[in-house]
Amino acid sequence: MNSQKVVLITGAGRGIGAATARLFAAKNYAVCINYKTNVDAASALAKEITAKGGRCITVQADVACESDVIRLFETTDKQLGPLSVLVNNAGILRPQSRLEDMTAERVNSMLVNNVTSYFICSREAVKRMSTRHGGRGGAIVNVSSGAARSGSPNEYIDYAASKGAIDTLTKGLALKVAAEGIRVNCARPGFIYTDMHADGGDAKRVERLEPIIPLQRGGTANEVAEAIYWLASDKSSFSTGNYLDVTGGI
Ligand code: NAP
Repeated sequence: MNSQKVVLITGAGRGIGAATARLFAAKNYAVCINYKTNVDAASALAKEITAKGGRCITVQADVACESDVIRLFETTDKQLGPLSVLVNNAGILRPQSRLEDMTAERVNSMLVNNVTSYFICSREAVKRMSTRHGGRGGAIVNVSSGAARSGSPNEYIDYAASKGAIDTLTKGLALKVAAEGIRVNCARPGFIYTDMHADGGDAKRVERLEPIIPLQRGGTANEVAEAIYWLASDKSSFSTGNYLDVTGGI
């Protein structure tokens, strides 16, 4: 029987998700690389992991769509084996905007992509991991944001509120499944150099804000990946329902 651990990482073709996929593969996990649209980035990452002797698959799925999520988990079951770790990482950002200019469509889209997706992916993971359902336990790591604490005034309070919901989901779910062999924790990145800031209409946002970050720089996707890996690994075996800030001191 193959005893290799399996991790499913949502939004893993680029940015923090891709760095996390590289790290788990280097630690001998079989990796499911989920992406939504950027097939080239996901394929290039899979090629890179495979060339180093790692085992991975790429699966296109919109994690905001329930039927896509079900297919994503079933594909992982069939092609890689029983799930050990879920990293809820996929997220979106919309251009900086005052509340007065936010439509209901924008807010709903933010909540479906950043919150509903984490709920339904966690549901599928719990069905597979929980000892209550015959599973072997596991770990869920939610990627939230320092924005959950700051509220992101004058930038995007809809995004910040979506991440606040993830902090609450982390706490509630962690306590609900703690006795069922599953740990649930949260990594909260601060200003990280990725493409996401271009989606927010401010591609050089991290560089611009470097002077107000106590460590005087933004963070890298690799630094966030290390925090996610630690929260998923047995090294954090007595931690659940916790938040690990990766924010350079903010
Ligand atoms: P990114 O570079 O913009 O990458 C986002 C990834 O999410 C992409 O792979 C994208 O897929 C995927 N994605 C988006 N919506 C999806 C959906 N509905 N279904 C499946 N995949 C979807 O973002 P990042 O900076 O790495 O951010 C990763 C996570 O960290 C997010 O949750 C974000 O909120 C959080 N975070 C980031 C920062 C930061 O400063 N960068 C700070 C705090 C928190 P495609 O490649 O197919 O488009």
